[in-house]
Formats: sequence, structure tokens, C-alpha cells
Amino acid sequence: MRAFRLRLPSLAGLLFVLASATVSAQTGRIVIAHRGASGYLPEHTLAAKAMAYAMGAHYIEQDLVMTRDDRLIVLHDITLDRTTDVAQRFPDRARADGHFYAIDFDLAEIRQLQATEGFRLVDGERGSGYANRFPLGQSSFTVPTFAEEIELIQGLNHSTGRDVGIYPEIKQPEFHRAEGKDISSAVVAMLRRYGYTAREHKVFLQTFSFAELEIISSEILPEAGIDIRLIQLLGDPDAYPWMFEAGGMNILAEHAHGIGPAHPLIIDPASTPDALRISQLVERAHAAGLAVHPYTFRADPGQLPAYADSFADLLEKHYFTAGVDGLFTDFPDLAVQFLRARP
Ligand code: CA
Repeated sequence: MRAFRLRLPSLAGLLFVLASATVSAQTGRIVIAHRGASGYLPEHTLAAKAMAYAMGAHYIEQDLVMTRDDRLIVLHDITLDRTTDVAQRFPDRARADGHFYAIDFDLAEIRQLQATEGFRLVDGERGSGYANRFPLGQSSFTVPTFAEEIELIQGLNHSTGRDVGIYPEIKQPEFHRAEGKDISSAVVAMLRRYGYTAREHKVFLQTFSFAELEIISSEILPEAGIDIRLIQLLGDPDAYPWMFEAGGMNILAEHAHGIGPAHPLIIDPASTPDALRISQLVERAHAAGLAVHPYTFRADPGQLPAYADSFADLLEKHYFTAGVDGLFTDFPDLAVQFLRARP
């Protein structure tokens, strides 16, 4: 069993090289809606997901954390502080560090919260993270469960005839384990329940934790009897220096289908339009048979790296100069339009 599993990546790698050649010829690169159409509506609300769907995203992302009563909810942080009114509604429920952890609340309590555009507190006042985005505290939004979101996307697939995928991320698995919760097994069980059981199904399961990725790949998926594509996220290069060394991607390919690196790991932000400094990451990942889906591409004022002339140029340099297979963006409409217009 073990030897068989270890041989799979090289075969998968070969198939991927063949598949990517075909897909690229049809501009088959993918757009992943990061937290939904989060450039326009509060992140991880069902409204933001429906908008991303309507904009033509190929995959829609869910960040997942667990409640006290073991329900999976779609929330970026393990705390409710930044995107809900938890501090007003449950003022005495913060931990000693001042934060309101989702894992300390039952789903019925989280259902009472209003979700908003993300904010930070400046001198006790809520300030928007991005001034141009959806106004704070307006309209009415809630924190969805993972099941509700899958049902939304599958329901839209049914009513539109499209086949949009899901792209769930297991948030801070070590934190969940320390709190006595095996979030990965819960996520895999939910995927199985909704029919995401094989590599050709439209799901990528992502995490920053390589230790967890190994557990999912070697134990949880085989025990559940399913085999889906896993993505290793990469942020701080010091977290796993070996991944950036020659051969690192081959080791990773024993467990992952692809990588999701922060985009500065692909194109150095100190690049200029005339001197683009592209790292070896995409080349090495592709050589190991891994797909590359960098994050996060934002069209807000002030977010464009100096080496790009426009948001479209930023996409061009990643999709076609660096050669990535897909990317996470808060503005899925712009990436979809870019790919459709590109000859
Ligand atoms: Ca994420």
C-alpha cells in the first residue's frame, strides 16, 4: 500500500504535464475567487460567493474553522473579531488574550452574529481594511456553514448547468487539534457526503501545514476511501526551507497535487517592468508535476506591485510570463475577463 502510494505522484505528474499542455492551448487557466468576490462584498458571505459564481470564477474558496459544537463554518480567522459584531453581542466571551474564538461558540450563537466587511480597530473605532470596498456594518450578512456554502454552489451548478468547483482551506489544524478537534477528518467527511471523492471532481483541499497535509494524504483520505487533490500553501519561506531547495517539490509531490504560494515567492516584488525577477518555484513545481495557484491578487488602490503597469499586466505576468496554472483573486470578474480577452 505504502509503495503504491509513493509511485502515484510520478504517474500523476506525467499525466499533469500532458493535461496542462492541452489545457494551456485552450487558455484553461483557472480563476479562484478568494473568499468569494471579496473585493465587492464582505468576505465569506453567501452573497460574496453567489457574486463570484455569477462572475464566472472556476473555483470558489472556503476557509474553514470549527465551532464548539463541532460544526464547520466558513471563516478566515480562528477568531470572530475582524468580520463580525461578536464584541457587541457577546462582550464577556473573549479569552484572556482579548480575542473571541469561534471554537468557544456554538453554531446557534454564531448564527446571531452579523458578518461585515473586515475591519481593524483604530483607537477603539472600526476602520475598513480597504476604503473602496463594501461599507462596514451595512445590509445584513451572516457566517455560513460549510454545508450551506456547498449547497449554494452545487445548487447553482444545477440551475445554471455549469460546474464550478470548491477550494476549501483547513485553518490552523494544529490549533484545532490542541483544542481537541480533528478538523481535517470533519472536512473530509463533509466532502465525501457531498460527492467530492475522486481526483477528477472539482475540489482542491488546501492547508499551510505540511504535517497536516501528510496526515490527510496518508491516513484521513485512505480511511475515508476517497482520493482528492491536495494543495500545500506557501507563505513564509522560513516555515519549510526544504520546499525551496532543489528536489523539495519532488518530496512535496508525494502528498500534494499542487502548491499555493504567496505571489511574491514567484515574482520578486523588487522587480521592475524591465527586469522581472522570477523565482525557480514554478519551474521546479511543474517539473515535479505540481500545479501552481498563487495568492492573492487585488485590484484595490495601492495594491499593484511596481513591476506591473496595471492589474491586467499583473495577471499577464503571472499567468503567461511565469506560467502559473491558476490564481486566487478578490476580483474574479477581472481575472475572468482578462483570460477571455487574451488571445
Ligand atoms: Ca484561504
